[in-house]
Amino acid sequence: MDIHQDKSYWLENYGPYSPAPAIEGELEVDVAIIGAGFTGLSTALNLLQAQPGLNVAVLEAQVVGYGASGRNGGFSMTLFGLEPAVTKALFGHQRTVEAHQYMEQAVDYVDELVKEHELQSDYWFPGFLRAATTEGYVKRIQSDLEILTSLGVAGIEWLEVDEIRAEVNSPRFLGGWWEPRCGLLDPAKHVRELKRIALEYGAHIYEYSPVVEIQRGTQFSLRTPGGKVNAEKLVFATNAYSHLFPELRSKQVPAFTHMVLTERLKTEDLEEIGWKNRQGIEDARNLVHYFRLTIDNRIAMGGSDVSISYGRDMDCDNNARIFHDLERDINWLFPNLKGIRITHRWGGPVSVPVDLAPAIGFIGDSRAVYSLGCVGHGVSMAHLNGKTLADLVLEKKTALTEVWFVNRRQIPWPPEPLRLILSHAIRGYLRIEDRIYERSLSFDD
Ligand SMILES: Cc1cc2nc3c(=O)[nH]c(=O)nc-3n(C[C@H](O)[C@H](O)[C@H](O)COP(=O)(O)OP(=O)(O)OC[C@H]3O[C@@H](n4cnc5c(N)ncnc54)[C@H](O)[C@@H]3O)c2cc1C
Repeated sequence: MDIHQDKSYWLENYGPYSPAPAIEGELEVDVAIIGAGFTGLSTALNLLQAQPGLNVAVLEAQVVGYGASGRNGGFSMTLFGLEPAVTKALFGHQRTVEAHQYMEQAVDYVDELVKEHELQSDYWFPGFLRAATTEGYVKRIQSDLEILTSLGVAGIEWLEVDEIRAEVNSPRFLGGWWEPRCGLLDPAKHVRELKRIALEYGAHIYEYSPVVEIQRGTQFSLRTPGGKVNAEKLVFATNAYSHLFPELRSKQVPAFTHMVLTERLKTEDLEEIGWKNRQGIEDARNLVHYFRLTIDNRIAMGGSDVSISYGRDMDCDNNARIFHDLERDINWLFPNLKGIRITHRWGGPVSVPVDLAPAIGFIGDSRAVYSLGCVGHGVSMAHLNGKTLADLVLEKKTALTEVWFVNRRQIPWPPEPLRLILSHAIRGYLRIEDRIYERSLSFDD
């Protein structure tokens, strides 16, 4: 059976995996969750922790971790949406701080989950560097830092050029932000460990069970190719796939981010780079680069640009130009690695609302909830969103359900072909701004 090992290095490296059987026949449940990524599995876990004995079914179209949760960079980090300056421009100071506080809680929640349940996710907690590679980016990061510190956010500090290079010796780094609160994990191992604990708490998980039709009556009736599920409550944990459901069509679109992985670094190469504390690193672009070491000393690097799809197309994982650029950018950042071999290339969808910020809420009425829009910063957030969704399903009013992006008004994406035009316009704007910040650079140096 195809278990989608070609979708990322992590899924391939996971090794043999036995999916749960697909749904057959008709089931009655209290809560049906569509999607078995971090969001869906965390929602199941939180529902069952809050109300043991609840009948919860998770329906996954492919296998656990097939979506972004099995393919990402593994940064469990505090960044919300695209970046603080954008959030502040669109939503104001106070909401930027609230969002950051939610994200701090999200990172701590992942850390607690790993420790409490001894998740075997190759997890460590090395902190995060946001590295500036031009003088313009120095100013951008310092300004973001000022925004957060002026509003009382503590724990992030500025590193001067010699300080950041003492951590990671790239001749391109001109300074950066150091934030101790960031974990790194192997996403495929982690999402399947979440499956393990959700099962231990009593969740029913069905793989190869795509929901192809939803009828809404006194109950929800979900049809899959082999079965039917009748549920009192419904959770859309489908993130970048959400536009495929008529109810959520205009709330987000997918953009595809791509990653490459090097062969293992030689000891002498690694010694030259330093990186002893093995932090997660991003630069300050809109179309960010994110990079990290794996447990066996490869560099995984993603970002640089995104691919855009049309309509229902979700088949945009591979982009030769972006793979080429990422390989070039590794060599540019670490010139001593020139010629290092790339062993893996992959991509996956992130969820993008028009205003580049996450959204959670009720859809139709309070019996159905959704979560989407993590814009590439969803590893930690998806876990905490699972808790928020569980509170909404159980009709509890908590600090999580009161946060401003729960039940917020969203600007709708227009239908195709306008959607494609608008996607290109937003990406075009982000690219142009990056070029302005990088006008002094030549990547072929
Ligand atoms: C290459 C890449 C790198 C990234 N790196 C980072 C990072 O380092 N840090 C970070 O914070 N974020 C990162 N992200 C984003 C992060 O991975 C996501 O925000 C997060 O995994 C979303 O989790 P999710 O459970 O909401 O969605 P997903 O993991 O996408 O899960 C949704 C699931 O729904 C299923 N589904 C869809 N339709 C149906 C249907 N009809 N019936 C049943 N099931 C269905 C899909 O198969 C999928 O498994 C990255 C994303 C990508 C693609």
